[in-house]
Amino acid sequence: MNNFPDKKTIYLTFDDGPSKNTIKILDILKKYKVKATFFVCGNTTEFGKKVYKRIVNEGHAIGNHTFSHNYKVIYSSEEAFLKDLKKLENFLFSVAGVKPKIIRFPGGSNTSIGKKYGGIKLTERLTTKVLLDGYQYFDWNVSSRDATKVTQDKEIIINSVLQDVKDGGNIVLFHDSWPKTTTVEALPTIIEELLKRGYRFDILTKDSFYVHFL
Ligand SMILES: [Zn+2]
Repeated sequence: MNNFPDKKTIYLTFDDGPSKNTIKILDILKKYKVKATFFVCGNTTEFGKKVYKRIVNEGHAIGNHTFSHNYKVIYSSEEAFLKDLKKLENFLFSVAGVKPKIIRFPGGSNTSIGKKYGGIKLTERLTTKVLLDGYQYFDWNVSSRDATKVTQDKEIIINSVLQDVKDGGNIVLFHDSWPKTTTVEALPTIIEELLKRGYRFDILTKDSFYVHFL
């Protein structure tokens, strides 16, 4: 019951931007005419605002990854998390005219970091609460492993994705923060191979196929 797509579908997702790598990723996506989903954080610079607008204008989806991404703050209480989430929501609305209904929890919905700061029940309360409030949250079922090192080996990123994709829905986790240069380098090979294998690319919406760890 999670809207399993009837075709081989890839949902590319990029967390933690905007950064200079986001621009390079947008250029690559444009070249291959592929759409993706960006779970962004708060960046109040002119550069950041430009990137949010470009993501929206080029037909990609923007998701809410909290304004601060500060584990200690967002996972200190339910109120603190929702306040940070709303802060980004309002900011994105003022800058790019969008109020994302899609969320990715920093660290994932079952994050041990969330449990460390907020207690074992906090993450459970948060997932229930956001669904009740009309959001959908997305974990992933394919990891590029680009977060297990500050800058991961390009070949590891390529192989991790290409080995783990399967028929049906694939929500692929990448990061587009500033050290993730090899994620950018790995992306063309990954897209070319997946197109060759007959996958279609789609953006996440509130009603999309989803993966929940919790
Ligand atoms: Zn993150």
